[in-house]
Amino acid sequence: MQYNIKELNNWRSNAVSNINDKYYIETWGCQMNEEDSEKLSGMLKRIGYESTEVKEDASIIIFNTCCVRENAENKVFGNLGALKALKAKNPNLIIAICGCMMQQKGMADKILTTFPYVDIIFGTHNSYKFPEYLNTVKQQGVQVKEIVNKEDKIVEGIPIDRKSDIKAFVTIMYGCNNFCTYCVVPYVRGRERSRKPEDIEKEIKDLVAAGYKEVTLLGQNVNSYGKGLEEELTFADLLRRINSIEGLERVRFMTSHPKDLTEDVIMAIKECDKLCEQIHLPVQSGSSRVLKEMNRSYTKEQYLELVKKIKQEIPDVSISTDIIIGFPGETEEDFNETLDLVKQVEYDSAFTFIYSRRQYTPADRMEDQIPDDIKHARFNKLVDAVNEIIAKKNATYEGKVVEVLVEGTSKNDENRLMGRTRNGKLVNFDGCKESVGKLVNVNITRAQAFSLVGEEV
Ligand code: SAH
Ligand code: SF4
Repeated sequence: MQYNIKELNNWRSNAVSNINDKYYIETWGCQMNEEDSEKLSGMLKRIGYESTEVKEDASIIIFNTCCVRENAENKVFGNLGALKALKAKNPNLIIAICGCMMQQKGMADKILTTFPYVDIIFGTHNSYKFPEYLNTVKQQGVQVKEIVNKEDKIVEGIPIDRKSDIKAFVTIMYGCNNFCTYCVVPYVRGRERSRKPEDIEKEIKDLVAAGYKEVTLLGQNVNSYGKGLEEELTFADLLRRINSIEGLERVRFMTSHPKDLTEDVIMAIKECDKLCEQIHLPVQSGSSRVLKEMNRSYTKEQYLELVKKIKQEIPDVSISTDIIIGFPGETEEDFNETLDLVKQVEYDSAFTFIYSRRQYTPADRMEDQIPDDIKHARFNKLVDAVNEIIAKKNATYEGKVVEVLVEGTSKNDENRLMGRTRNGKLVNFDGCKESVGKLVNVNITRAQAFSLVGEEV
């Protein structure tokens, strides 16, 4: 379905905003949520709003929520509570809440009861209707709550206001069919739906025409891209088509489920010049027994075999991962297997999580939930092991010259530039400001715990 831009222009002329009204968006969770927020921002700018980083200056505050772990949820509740005072000071303030948390059974009602000053509640499948909801609140002064549970359509052509003008996220598929036993994503994001390749190509060509150099293709499991499309197409086919887009410099993608990462994708990375040598390959656990309980459909041995193949075929590849500690029933032996796997793979980076019980998931009903103190002790041990490996890997870059796409000035030092190597390493370096947006060579002089330091050559 094509987004109705004309209607958006109507909202603008209907003065849904007073010109220069400001909005503030806070986003929790993954890159998909980030991209959804960029779309909310794109629609709001089209109807005349401007963005602000200061909540107090905003006439609309939007919270785009995540519910993958309990602490993400708690942060949202805390932040919503803090808005009460702001709303009391400014009764015209409009508070909207959306995202994955809203798709959970009973959550929207709970929010309305606990935080009655929230004006708009909507879910992940209908965020394109936000300007309409805003109009209703403004014109009629009523609360709006709309949660859609059926994910039947993909809406193309929503205006998008991206954070960067050099690199962009491009969602290629929505939803997930895997039902890992700990995870809420399939319940809140629905089943897998792939975008048509021509829509994806058009979006990327438009980005290139606007000066973008890099895209990251997004999906919960990009390797199963293509199912259900009229045209028969695999993820590797899509990668090769994107690789032929002129003017594009770099392509990344995430996330790859180890059970679906096929040899043709590995060969595409090897053979296509724009595909970066970087794979995010969440392992979750190093114990085949736990992996089975998690419903991950691969064993430790199969995972290690896949890593071996990737390393053989793609020199300089960097591999990153997600790991969950303290899944129900995880024994000390299971945990040691995870430590052992981490050491064998030598990850370039790893997102480590403490298992969080999620209502309605099978793992929540499992016996043998692990006590917090054990989870924390294992978690700390894992983080130490991961950090040691990352530091060791980063040290191998000292004295090397690497290609960096320059993204802007460094976070902590305005006189320095920052960017990433093809395989995703963060580099802070001395260079000339004109290099921003370009590919440059950087000599690495020093490796730090999570980044590299160097100078442009
Ligand atoms: N689709 C992706 C990522 C989805 S969520 C994938 O399959 O890899 C991102 C990460 O959050 C997961 O990889 C997992 O490591 C973590 N996660 C998901 N549910 C969790 C839970 N209940 N507790 C702790 N971590 C969780
Ligand atoms: Fe969650 Fe598993 Fe789907 Fe990833 S693949 S989103 S972890 S159910």
